[in-house]
Amino acid sequence: MNFARCAMLAGCVALHLPFQLTAVAPRLGPAPHTAPRNVVNPSASPPAESSSASTPAKPPQAYKLPPDKLAKAIALGRIRNIVDLAGSLLDLAVLWLLLATRASAAIESWSQRITPRRWLQGLFFFAIFLLITALADLPLDVYAHHVSRSYGISVAGWGDWLLDLSKGLGLSILFVPPILLAFNWIVRRWPRRYWLYSWMATIPLMVVSVFIAPLFEPIFNRYEPLAKNHPVLVGELQKVVARTGTSIPPERMFLMKAAQKTNGLNAYVSGLGSTKRIVVWDTTADRIPDDQVLFLLGHETGHYVLNHIAKGLALSAVALFFVYWGCARFAAWLARGFGVRWGLAQEGITLRSVAALSSRSGFVVLLFTISVAGFVLAPIDNLVSRYFEHQADVYGQEAIHGIVTDPQKTAVAAFNALGEAWLEDPNPSPFLECWTYSHPSTQSRANFAAQYDPWANGGHGEFFDK
Ligand SMILES: [Zn+2]
Repeated sequence: MNFARCAMLAGCVALHLPFQLTAVAPRLGPAPHTAPRNVVNPSASPPAESSSASTPAKPPQAYKLPPDKLAKAIALGRIRNIVDLAGSLLDLAVLWLLLATRASAAIESWSQRITPRRWLQGLFFFAIFLLITALADLPLDVYAHHVSRSYGISVAGWGDWLLDLSKGLGLSILFVPPILLAFNWIVRRWPRRYWLYSWMATIPLMVVSVFIAPLFEPIFNRYEPLAKNHPVLVGELQKVVARTGTSIPPERMFLMKAAQKTNGLNAYVSGLGSTKRIVVWDTTADRIPDDQVLFLLGHETGHYVLNHIAKGLALSAVALFFVYWGCARFAAWLARGFGVRWGLAQEGITLRSVAALSSRSGFVVLLFTISVAGFVLAPIDNLVSRYFEHQADVYGQEAIHGIVTDPQKTAVAAFNALGEAWLEDPNPSPFLECWTYSHPSTQSRANFAAQYDPWANGGHGEFFDK
């Protein structure tokens, strides 16, 4: 469950929140086994130029991989899908098992024995709860890193990988238990309207977490001013900045040292207000031509100019209102049906579901329902995210018009570079794309870019007058 990792935001909007509880719990930043969800992220559709007499001719496909990489991308695509699905189901299973085996109730009793202070009991309980969920995820995390290394995407050694994982877990244990304790208190204090007050508390928490996220980034990666080693690129970027009318000075552009960890390419925007910044991975700045980097930055600037962070927060807030209400009903139903069996209340005592939910173990029931909601609502979340990403693609292409020679070619080349670096399957299942893709497939993005030319016949784009 993620009170703050709100779904709508998984775009290029780098939401490295320090309190993620699910499969990605200890991983802050892009999950190493998948193309990061905060990336100008590639992915795909049918292989090239196959037309026969019996089927209508398909338009040429703009994202192509050489045969050896194509085979790898298809195999890796399958593994990614399985790992993603397994991760989600595992999270749900762990929460269910914690309740069904009464492990959760046992940890609650233990925490009550070691200290009389209720708040301390809660901190212990939630810290142990986090550790258990992180340990349960560990085998899948190890497998994911193994796959990423064997496909040549991650180049991080196991020691570095474990260090990052530990840092993520450490931060989670520092920040998450107090937050969960506060929400647990809200349930206890307002047993009937807790979902409403929890919702009201979630909104400022989401805003603050986006605001402070960039402050945690240096814990995991090294950053330097982009101008330090890429003055020419910064000079070019200034042209994009000027065209987009944004006030992103070179001081707010950073280069992230990613090459020691990955061969993937990425650029993202993060933060709000004074912490807002544009970050380019060194793999991106060093390995693809500057005009393509300009397109990627144009895309990121699109998120920035079109207020995708704020819009994502607003949409999340509206969605969470209904999600919390629904989860409260679902949790009450679970408590009535399973409360005694799960040790939320003792047998023989009339069990009021609201009272059962205000215990620590009862709170785990709420976390379970929110995890279920996150899983079930992922397609809607991803639909919104893909819409934002497409808007940013359009914006990016328009932003470099007049600065690079051929925006269509540049964008298509950039998508091909990203797709090849992350080994994105050019032909993913449409169902999985709809369910799990936070970005449109690389193929559809490249195909769109190839034909998007609003300037033909003297026209202009959607976001710029010329
Ligand atoms: Zn994006």
